[in-house]
Amino acid sequence: MSDCLFCRIIDRKIPAKIVYEDERAVAIEDIHPQSPTHLLVIPRQHLPSLLEAQAGDEALLGHLFLVAAQLARERGLDSKGYRTVINTGSGAGQTVFHLHVHVLGGRPFHWPPG
Ligand code: 5GP
Ligand code: ZN
Repeated sequence: MSDCLFCRIIDRKIPAKIVYEDERAVAIEDIHPQSPTHLLVIPRQHLPSLLEAQAGDEALLGHLFLVAAQLARERGLDSKGYRTVINTGSGAGQTVFHLHVHVLGGRPFHWPPG
């Protein structure tokens, strides 16, 4: 989708710090990090949000979380814990309507989240 920010990043039309990529997913550093580590794991396939995910996307969704866990492990976040977040809909804080998993780590996190 030419008007989607993350599709444009994936297509290298907009620069981003890409930290991982494979045939199904790309991970980038968030431009406004909310913690010392703040990555976004993004499917290459344009899905606006989790709302649009269907049964056929089951493997892709699992893959996004495995990539998130791998990146967290590589950054040494596993010992102190890290947070994975998907904001779905503007009421939940979603601002970019291309599904992505936030991977946040490097500081304490509280519950409930804001
Ligand atoms: P959301 O609010 O949709 O859950 O998350 C979108 C995230 O994308 C935000 O954390 C925001 O900082 C990040 N973001 C927005 N624009 C850009 C950009 O141009 N480049 C990068 N790397 N991240 C972005
Ligand atoms: Zn997109």
